[in-house]
Amino acid sequence: MRFVIRDDDPSAMTLPDELEACWGGVWDSIPVGLSVTPFRIPGTGLGVPEAHFGGEEPIPLEDNQPLVRFLRELIRAGKVHIAMHGYNHTRPLGKPEYVAGDDLEKKTRHGRAYLESVLGCEVATFVPPNNTMGLEGFRAVASAGMNVVNNQPYGRLLGFPRSPSALADFALAGSYALRRKWGGYSPFEVQSFAGFKQAPYQTVGPETDLKKLERTFELCHGVGGLFVLATHYHAFERKNVGGGTVRQAIEELVEMAKRAGQVEFQTYTQVWRPTPS
Ligand SMILES: [Zn+2]
Repeated sequence: MRFVIRDDDPSAMTLPDELEACWGGVWDSIPVGLSVTPFRIPGTGLGVPEAHFGGEEPIPLEDNQPLVRFLRELIRAGKVHIAMHGYNHTRPLGKPEYVAGDDLEKKTRHGRAYLESVLGCEVATFVPPNNTMGLEGFRAVASAGMNVVNNQPYGRLLGFPRSPSALADFALAGSYALRRKWGGYSPFEVQSFAGFKQAPYQTVGPETDLKKLERTFELCHGVGGLFVLATHYHAFERKNVGGGTVRQAIEELVEMAKRAGQVEFQTYTQVWRPTPS
């Protein structure tokens, strides 16, 4: 089984101490994947600190030099690996950025190159804000040469395929869906399309039923699948439905993974590597 930690939302608004308080006891033994927004526009969503609440101007990551230095060091030490999490993380017309945003292709290529130069590492993974993308969003991410961590079924429901390669990918997506329905394909595998790969994730947050997630973990372990545990550092101290905190749920799952045996803790680079068939 492959186990990956995904933490969304670090940006120029994030303090190094906040990340340290969440992952300082984890990243010495397990690499933590941070989904970083390169030019965050604060807005009024969850996790926006008071000092930035309601802000409407983009804040480039490099404006927060203490965070940049902290991340570069962690990346060099192999404790942290990076995905791109949107460009501004806004909600144009009340919709997710990669559904209704404009200039997505240009922004995605620029955001990737920017993160790579500011942080000094390769960034080949995209995590969509609000976990949702439209067809344009997928096209933008593929054109920037990135893969996605996303649970949306790629294909027909996203719109009309306008290129032969998109049409071929839709057919491929249909065959994945059928194989999943009739057996022979687990929901814990990476799907490969012409322009990108897509990995599934499991959420741990305030709405999570920990018992149910533990059963999902066992199912995934049973088939030797990929388990991407997705969370938000700014939700760590919130209660989840079982009464404990998000932090406790994460600690329990990480311990479970350490005890389970035959679990490899991976970075995104390892996730996208072709598996020997
Ligand atoms: Zn986010």
